[in-house]
Parts: sequence; C-alpha cells; structure tokens
Amino acid sequence: MVVELISVGTEILLGNIVNTNAQYLAEKCALLGLSVYYQSVVGDNKDRLADTFRTALKRSDIVILTGGLGPTEDDLTKEVCAEVMGFPLVEDAHTRERLVEYFANSIYKEIPDNNWKQAIVPAGARVLDNDNGTAPGLILEKFGKSAILLPGPPDELMPMFAKQVMPYLQTLRPEMIFSRMVKICGIGESAVEEKLLDLIDKQTNPTIATYAKIGEVHVRVTAKVTSEEEAKKLIKPVVKEIRSRLGDCVYSIKEDETLEMAVVELLKKYELTVTTAESCTGGLLAGRLVNVPGVSEVFREGFVTYSNKAKRKLLDVNKSTLKKYGAVSEQTAREMAMGGVFATDADVCVAITGIAGPESDGDKPVGLVYIACYMKEKVWVEQYQFKGNRNKIREQSVVKALDLLRRAILDNYRK
Ligand code: ATP
Ligand code: MG
Repeated sequence: MVVELISVGTEILLGNIVNTNAQYLAEKCALLGLSVYYQSVVGDNKDRLADTFRTALKRSDIVILTGGLGPTEDDLTKEVCAEVMGFPLVEDAHTRERLVEYFANSIYKEIPDNNWKQAIVPAGARVLDNDNGTAPGLILEKFGKSAILLPGPPDELMPMFAKQVMPYLQTLRPEMIFSRMVKICGIGESAVEEKLLDLIDKQTNPTIATYAKIGEVHVRVTAKVTSEEEAKKLIKPVVKEIRSRLGDCVYSIKEDETLEMAVVELLKKYELTVTTAESCTGGLLAGRLVNVPGVSEVFREGFVTYSNKAKRKLLDVNKSTLKKYGAVSEQTAREMAMGGVFATDADVCVAITGIAGPESDGDKPVGLVYIACYMKEKVWVEQYQFKGNRNKIREQSVVKALDLLRRAILDNYRK
C-alpha cells in the first residue's frame, strides 16, 4: 500500500508554520507498515490543489490530505477532492447535530453562518467525528483508492488519526504491524548498531531499526503478522536478545516511558528522595523530573545555583574549591551534590556544572560539563565534552544526569 501525504495551506508554503502534521503522519504510516513515497505541500489554491490531488490519486493507493477543512472561503480541500473524485456534496445530518451541540457547549451563542458549511460532505463519505473542533474528517473511497481528509490543527488531527484513521488503515491491509521499542541511554548509536549488527543484518521479520535521540538511542523491533500472538512470539526473543547485549544501557521497553519516568520509577521503588543542584542547565533537570506525574513523592528540592555565590550559600561549596579548581570542575560538582543532600536531607542529589557557551571560560572549553551524583556516602562524578550549541549542550547534560542517577541507583541497590 502506497500512501501519499498532501499538506494544504499557504502558511506552510510561506514558512509561517512548520509542517509537523506531515512528520506525525509519516511516522505513523511507517509504523503501520505503509510506504510513503511522496509528500507535497500546496497552498490554498483550487487549481493547484486539484492538480496535486489528481497526480497523487494516480500513483498512490491512499492519499492523506491535511488542512483546509475549516469554515472560511480559503478552506477548499473537501470541495476540491469531491469534485476530482466525482462526488456530489450533501448535508450530513449527524454532523449538523454535532455542530449544534458543539456550539451549545461553547462560549458562542450563535452558530456563525459559514460553519454550516462543515456539515456538507461528499455523498457516501465516511465521516470522522472531530472531538476537538468543528470540521469532521472524511474518508472518500473510489476505484480502490482512498482519500483521507483531516483538519489542519494538530490537536484535532492527532487524536482523530489515532482513534479513527489507524483502525481504518489496518482494515485495508491483510497483515498487521506490531512493534516494540527498546530505549537505550549511555551508549551511542553506532556502538548500539555494532552490538546488534548481526541481528540487524539478518533481519527480515521482525525488522530492527535504530533511531538517535539527544543522549539516547531507540531501537524499534517491528513484526508483520496476522495476529497479536504471532507478533509476541516473533518480537519477544529479539527484544530479549537486545536487552541481554546492551545490559543496563536499556532503561525501558515501554513505548510511552521516558527516561525521567524510568528514573522516577526507580526512586519510588527504592524509596529514595532526590534533590537537584544545577548550574549551566538552570533548572532543566528539575523540569524534566517534574514532567513526571507523581514525582512529588520523591522530589525534594531543585537548586539553581548559577553564581559562585549561590553555590557557596545554598550548597556550601568551599570557597577554596571554587578558587582552586573553578566552578566547572570535578571537585565543585562533587561538593554541589554533597551539599544538596545535606541542605535538604534527601537521599540523593544530582549536580550539574558546565560551560554551555557560546563563550568559553578561560582555558576551559565550551561543552565541558561535570555531573555528580551523591548517595549514601558514595559519589559518582563524570566528565563530558559535549558538542553543539548552548541548547544542545544543556539538553545532553540533563540526559546524562538522569542516566547517572539511574545507574547510581542500580549500582547501589541491585548488586
Ligand atoms: P481551521 O478550521 O482552523 O481553519 P483547517 O482544517 O482549515 O482548520 P488550516 O486552516 O489549513 O486547517 O490550518 C489551521 C491551523 O492548523 C494552522 O493555522 C496551523 O496552526 C495548523 N496546521 C495546519 N496545517 C498544519 C501542518 N501541516 N502542520 C502543523 N500545523 C498545521
Ligand atoms: Mg482553515
């Protein structure tokens, strides 16, 4: 099955907005085992949209269009697709009712005239209810081809796709796709690939693909199957093998589990409280931890000690340490972590101090970062030389700090 994506909207052509819908849809199609061979962007122009759509219908089985389903004059995706595929437009009573309901629950008292346009659909189309807006999605089928029309706003498109379009796409293909994600931290993508090379080389079903993320590598194991049991049978041994080869570098095999979630899980498991002490990351680490619902059970306090004065005052870092080794040093990182534990009576403290740039600090280069973790009278300190701009250096530092915390806990409790 070949899928083609058409993003409709002059704002995308002008660069006013980033085409995140295409990225989302392409990724989901790949997961479903559908091949996306073409993607295009076209403005809110009737003739050019009709042309693009006609071409897409010729060379692809499924065409997904996003945007231009709104109530205004320049929204013409539905009209153009209906015309090209030869469907008359009719009113859909169910959508009309939904519009009435939607506006009854909104701050608007009256339904704007042009919104009624959204209850008009190509005859015979499948209507996809929009739970987050007014424009319904539409599926048009003819001559073995499908056109799927989705609203432009991502918060309307994504749930509609996940809830209604994915099951539809799955019915179009005899085999199903199941996959499992192995999430890895503390080892680079090429090293991961090297360790898995023979598996990757001989892969057919399931397939194995690696994805590099900031400070992390994700490995997706995907099987084409006819049942869920078959999927489990194929995927399980491969995931097991990957885990055994990568050991503690694997932090999760759950699709939705982030690194910070895995870390918070561990803290809870061993009933540990944590404090953060940050310099160059300015609270990013605390922010990542606070992403996790329920973190209050384990998170004590987050210090942002950007200045030397703050490091001394809040974390009791020695004046002489700062003077002798500097703020960006193993010694300072170590004292920050210890200071964090003593100041807050937490079980663990993770500290970050580094040079995020763009200016270097004397003879210390941009990207030099020290990360320390203090727990139960033990200290772990790591030195990194990150590459990239200020943001990237700070983000990498946070990932490494989360990973150091994770490993320190494993080190201390599991063995
Ligand atoms: P509306 O009812 O809001 O007019 P629509 O279905 O007509 O929805 P558009 O008018 O094309 O969609 O886009 C509405 C908004 O949706 C855009 O301003 C933009 O914020 C977002 N959007 C549209 N297309 C995309 C895209 N491809 N990627 C990301 N965001 C998009
Ligand atoms: Mg619009």
